[in-house]
Amino acid sequence: MVEGTPHRETQRRVSILGSTGSVGTSTIDLIAREPDRFAVEALVGGANAALLAEQAKTLGASFAAIADETAWPVLRDALAGTGIEAAAGRDAVLEAARRPADWTMGSIVGAAGLAPTLEAVRRGGIVALANKEALVCAGDLFTEEAERAGCRILPVDSEHNAIYQVFDDARREGIDRIILTASGGPFRTLSLDDMARKSPAEAVAHPNWSMGVKISIDSATMMNKGLELIEAHHLFAMPEARIDVLVHPQSVVHSLVSYVDGSVLAQLGSPDMRTPIAYCLAWPRRMDTPVERLDLAAIGQLDFSAPDIRRFPCLGLARQALRAGGDAAPVLNGANEAAVEAFVAGRIGFTDIASVVAETLDRCPVEPVTDLEGVFAADAKGRRVAEDVIAGFGGLSIAHVGAAN
Ligand code: MG
Repeated sequence: MVEGTPHRETQRRVSILGSTGSVGTSTIDLIAREPDRFAVEALVGGANAALLAEQAKTLGASFAAIADETAWPVLRDALAGTGIEAAAGRDAVLEAARRPADWTMGSIVGAAGLAPTLEAVRRGGIVALANKEALVCAGDLFTEEAERAGCRILPVDSEHNAIYQVFDDARREGIDRIILTASGGPFRTLSLDDMARKSPAEAVAHPNWSMGVKISIDSATMMNKGLELIEAHHLFAMPEARIDVLVHPQSVVHSLVSYVDGSVLAQLGSPDMRTPIAYCLAWPRRMDTPVERLDLAAIGQLDFSAPDIRRFPCLGLARQALRAGGDAAPVLNGANEAAVEAFVAGRIGFTDIASVVAETLDRCPVEPVTDLEGVFAADAKGRRVAEDVIAGFGGLSIAHVGAAN
């Protein structure tokens, strides 16, 4: 470096697909802390046009797209005269994903996030991936397209982000296993009989993380960890048999990598999504965050235990789907979404969720999947068959979840 010339990092041009949700707003808050470091190209919101417009104005975005076309008049009026381009609908969302950017946050929730996130991957650069379905349902497709386009996928999910931080990709022959930690959810210590009587409200009360209804229930059944196991397989090219799950109720150790020499590397931190988001935003550098510093002396004790696959059969079902390959993972995901919806609606009991998914997997022969249309078809099949299974219950809760193994 020439003496007297301070090193200046060039500005990173960023787009946020899903800026009005929880990961999106955290990303915006972090960018707003260091505005000189980032230039905002495109923001995409779902239906909250007022918030999207406010974000676009605050950050000086070039383009704002709202997925819900009925929200278009609000966005148009809010951005009139600002010079910020605005548009609505599916094509507008895809255009936002295609616009030139060095870095994209893929945080649109659910199946709606698949096509725009894939567009961003195909454009290249860095994609911070928060959309679960991309890797759970279309893992091979996303990793192949990323390789073709020279796109680096950075995982936002706290467990995968932790593994990414301690996974020595350049010397991967030295890696033995990856170990995903799991809080165990609110029913960690309950018997199956007690779990069977739990209400949706009780399942949603997560001890460590504040999250949406669907992911909270997935955490209570531990299907969330099963889905994360599938994601980890695709992100780190590790076979299912070399991915372990470790129950760790405090959610301080976010995950670990075990090496052939006996070393185990872990990433720790307060359970706050702003840390993994900041890691992705600044990568390969680091940036300051307002996250509460980890005080291990104050915590005093960390607990670990093996997961109980008998009480949490969803873990085994996810492994089964991963081993089966083809469309089994999107079928599992679609069936689980249908089962969780039925539980929230009071149509089935908590422990029936796993039974519905198990029965759906049994009824669906595995078929190959090569594109997003195939993924959507598999998801729809999983939902449809799960609905048949639920209808077959005839309003009677079945309590033989142990059989789901
Ligand atoms: Mg997670």
